Amino acid sequence: NTDEPWRQFNKSRVYMADLESTLHYSLRVELAAHTVIKGDALTSLKNYISVLAKYFPGRPVVMNLLRYADSWLQKQTADQISYEAFRDILDNKAQIPDAALPEGVRWVGCQGSQPHLRRYPCGVWTVFHALTVQANSGGSSAPREVLGAMRSYVHNFFGCRACAEHFENMARESVAEVDTLSSAVLWLWSRHNRVNNRLAGALSEDPLFPKIQWPSPEMCPACHTVKDNGEHRWNMPQVLPFLMSHFSSSSILTDYLD
Ligand code: FAD
Repeated sequence: NTDEPWRQFNKSRVYMADLESTLHYSLRVELAAHTVIKGDALTSLKNYISVLAKYFPGRPVVMNLLRYADSWLQKQTADQISYEAFRDILDNKAQIPDAALPEGVRWVGCQGSQPHLRRYPCGVWTVFHALTVQANSGGSSAPREVLGAMRSYVHNFFGCRACAEHFENMARESVAEVDTLSSAVLWLWSRHNRVNNRLAGALSEDPLFPKIQWPSPEMCPACHTVKDNGEHRWNMPQVLPFLMSHFSSSSILTDYLD
């Protein structure tokens, strides 16, 4: 809908409306392209829903739905499921109490100045940053659990196939080096900045949201240092706490939710 009114928002904050819109689009639109989900794709879906059920910083009703979908998927022992059966779970056809995944999208921090800009891909980055941060603050047993789920979700399902290929190349190159939960947070941050660098000035860039090395000095002055020769350097001891705070569940804004 291109007639939607622009929603005012703070560019330096994370919005729950974007996270929930991303779940809706991922689970009800992107996955719906697969009538049957089997083999490696089914394993990928199970791992994706499992990390969402554990680390998505969602409202209680959404968390109940994600945990319900997770336990249903873990019980599926056949080597394939139909998307239709999974969709009935997402829509809570069985009417489990207090469980729902809101229908439709309402982009806020991921609004684009044109319908083909930002939105879902912006939401995907935001969700996975939030998941790596939650896994780090809540404690996970496996440092690459979230990144592994992201890598295989993107590989099996992400609609932008060129993006999937680029991301897989970055993952193949260095994700194995991630050996702590904090380094998983930083790995995703630095790879996202590499993508920003590659895409700066490209057609996919929204002129209202230029691709920058993020966070800007305005958002996090302490994250930036300048060497004597004028070269920019990240102040790494400040970057991690910034990311932990920016994506923490207590900083997520709930504006524009029903
Ligand atoms: P996005 O890059 O989507 O970022 C969303 C928000 O995250 C930003 O608004 C900002 O608040 C925050 N953010 C920005 N940088 C960082 C960071 N380093 N760490 C943490 N938070 C940050 N498009 C292509 O054209 N070619 C590709 O190869 C490609 N590969 C992609 C791979 C993946 C896995 C994904 C999810 C998307 C990919 N895209 C690609 C889409 C592209 O990266 C952007 O998502 C899209 O252009 C929308 O950009 P945006 O301005 O909304 O900001």
